[in-house]
Amino acid sequence: MLARLSPWFRSMSVSSRTALSLAIGFTLMIAATALVAFSQERAKAIDESLARLDQRNAAVVHELTDRFDRIQRTQTRAVELFREEHTALTDAEARRAFEALYPLRPDGTRRSIDRMFTGGPTAIGMVHGMAGFIPAGIDQDDGAVRDIVAATLAIRRLSEGSRHDLESLYYFTPRNGIVIFAPDRPDRLEFYRQTAPADFAFQDREFATISTIAANPARAMRCTGLQSLISLKYQEVWTTGCMTPVDRDVRHIGTFGTSMPLDEIAPAGRFADSAEEQVILISREGRLIYHPGYTRQNSRKTGEYLDITNSARSDLAAIWALVRRHGQNGYVGKAEALDAYVSLHQVPGPGWYALTVKPEQLILARALRPIPRIAAMAVIALAGCLLIVVLVLRHLVAKPLRRLTREAERITRGLASDAMLEMPADDRTGNEVARLVSRFETLAGAIRTSHGELEQRVAERTRALNDANEKLRILSELDPLTGVANRRKVLSDLDARLERMGTGGSLAVIVLDIDRFKTINDRHGHVAGDDALRALASRVQSLLRPGDMIGRMGGEEFMVILDRARPVIADAIAERIRAAIARQPFQVHGNLTLNITASLGVACWSAGDSAKALYARADAALYEAKASGRNCAISSRDPLQGRNAA
Ligand code: GH3
Ligand code: MG
Ligand code: MG
Repeated sequence: MLARLSPWFRSMSVSSRTALSLAIGFTLMIAATALVAFSQERAKAIDESLARLDQRNAAVVHELTDRFDRIQRTQTRAVELFREEHTALTDAEARRAFEALYPLRPDGTRRSIDRMFTGGPTAIGMVHGMAGFIPAGIDQDDGAVRDIVAATLAIRRLSEGSRHDLESLYYFTPRNGIVIFAPDRPDRLEFYRQTAPADFAFQDREFATISTIAANPARAMRCTGLQSLISLKYQEVWTTGCMTPVDRDVRHIGTFGTSMPLDEIAPAGRFADSAEEQVILISREGRLIYHPGYTRQNSRKTGEYLDITNSARSDLAAIWALVRRHGQNGYVGKAEALDAYVSLHQVPGPGWYALTVKPEQLILARALRPIPRIAAMAVIALAGCLLIVVLVLRHLVAKPLRRLTREAERITRGLASDAMLEMPADDRTGNEVARLVSRFETLAGAIRTSHGELEQRVAERTRALNDANEKLRILSELDPLTGVANRRKVLSDLDARLERMGTGGSLAVIVLDIDRFKTINDRHGHVAGDDALRALASRVQSLLRPGDMIGRMGGEEFMVILDRARPVIADAIAERIRAAIARQPFQVHGNLTLNITASLGVACWSAGDSAKALYARADAALYEAKASGRNCAISSRDPLQGRNAA
C-alpha cells in the first residue's frame, strides 16, 4: 500500500506534500488529543454520575426511612393503644360492643356493620372507613373477643389522625380475624364486609408468616415483599405491608399491619423513573419491591418476576448477586454484569435495599457529547493551518524552485545545442524538487559532455601547436637555402658534443670555403650560385658517416663535424670531400655545368679545446689552404703534411 502510494506522493508538489504530511500529523495529534479528552471526560462523567447516583440513592433511602419510621411509630402507638384499651375493657363491655359492631351471619362468621365503613355513630362512637371479618368460633372465646374490640378501638383512635400518612392500618389474629381501616380503597372493603367466604384464611400469606415468633424473634416491625391484595379476586393490586407483632404472655396474639400499594411505594416525582436513572428496591429475602421494568400495578405478570433469588433474567440475577455481595456495607461503582453504574444502600426500617442504576452507555454518551464540537473546531483550525502553510510554502519554496528549474532548463538547452546533446523528455510532474533534480542532472550531463569535447579540442590544438613548434624548431636550425644545419645549430651541436665528450675521445672539425665563388656569381648569376651552394652541400652530406654533421656557416662557407675521428681519419675525410667537389662538375640553373673547387681547414680536438678554439684553428687552417693555392685541405696540426693539391 505504502509502496504504491510512495511514487504518487513523490510526484506531488512540495507545498501539497507538506500540507498532506501536516494534515496527517495534525489529524493524528487531534485524534490523540480527542482520545485523551474523551477519556478525561469519561472519567469525569463517571465520577459525576456516581456522585449523583449516590446522592439520589441516599435521598431514596432517606425518604423510605422516613416513611417507615412513621409507619413504625404509628404501629407502636397502635400497640400501646391496643394494650390501653384491652386493660380498660371488661369482658362484658367487650362482648356488648362486639355484638353491636360484628353481628353474627348465617354462615357462622361475623362481619362489621356497614356504618363502620360508611361512617356514623356506633356502639363505640363515631366510626368511619373501617371493616372487619371474624371467622366462626372466635366469639366463643372471651379473650379473643376482648382483643378484637380493643384492636377496633385502638385503630379507630388512630385512624383519622394517620389517614394522610397511611393507606391502611389493620389488626389480624392468628385465627384469621381481621379489623381494617382503609377508607380510600376503591373496593370499599366489600370483601371483608360481604364477600369473604366463611373459611377465609390467610395464615399462609407472607404478611402473616413474617410475624410468628419463629420468623420474627426480635418482634420488631417487618415488611413483606410485593404481594397481591387478598381481598380482590379478579384484580392484582400489588402492595407491600409492614407488620408489628403483638404478644401477650410470650404468646403471639395478633399483628398490626399497614399496606402500601406499589404506586405508593414509588410515587411519581419522588423517585419514580428518570430518563437516565432507575431506582430499584429489593427486600432482604430477594423479592422485588420496586423495579420500573418489572413491577407494574394491576399486572398479573409482575408476580413472575418477584423472586429474584433464582431468576432466569440475567439483569435480575445480577442485581441479586450485587445485593448479596455488597448489601451489608453498601456499594458505589460499576456493576459489570449490568453494564451500568450503581449506588446500593440498605434501607434499615423495612430491611430493604435501594439501588439507583445508570446504564454505562448513557454516561459515555454524555462524555462523548463535546467530541463533535472539539472535532469541528479542530477541523477548522486544521484547514486554516494548512491554507497558511500552502500559501507560505508556495511563496517561499515553490516559486523560487520553479525559477531555479526554468534557469537550469535554459542553461541545459544552451549546452545541449552547443554540444549537440539530446534534451530529455519534459518532466511534467508536480514535484518541483524532482523537476529541479532532473533538470540539474541533465545540466550536469550536458556540462560533462561539453567539458569532454572541449578537452578533446584543446588536446588536438595542443598537438597541432606542438607539431608546429617542432617544425619551427627544425626550421630554426636549418639553413633555408641548402637545407643543411645553419650556423647556430652546428655551433650549438659542436658545444653539446664537446660537453658530452668531457676530457676523452676524438672529434674533428672541417671548415670548407668555395674557391672564387664571387666569380661564379658574377659570371652566371646569383641563382646559379644558389644552385651550386645547394648541390655542393648535398654532395658533401652524402659523403659523411652516420653521426657526422654538416652546417652552413654563412655565405659559401660550411663546417663539417666528424664524430669520433682521429686526425688521420679526419684528414682522409677532408681529402675525400675536396676530391668529390673538384672531380665532378655541378649542374646548375641555366643548364650550366660548373667546375667548382673548395679549400678545407681541418682541426682535431685535443683535451681542453673549446668549440671556439677548435673553430678558430680550423679557420686558420682554411686560411692556410687558401693561401696555399686553394683546392686543398690543410690540417691545423701540421699544415705541410695536411696539404693536398688538386
Ligand atoms: P676566395 O677563393 O678567396 O674565397 O674568393 P671568393 O670569390 O670565393 O671570395 P669572396 O669573399 O671575395 O667572395 C665571396 C662571394 O660569395 C661574394 C658573394 O657574391 C658570394 N656569395 C656569398 N653568399 C652568397 C649566396 O648566398 N649566393 C650566391 N649566389 N653568392 C653568394
Ligand atoms: Mg668565403
Ligand atoms: Mg670563397
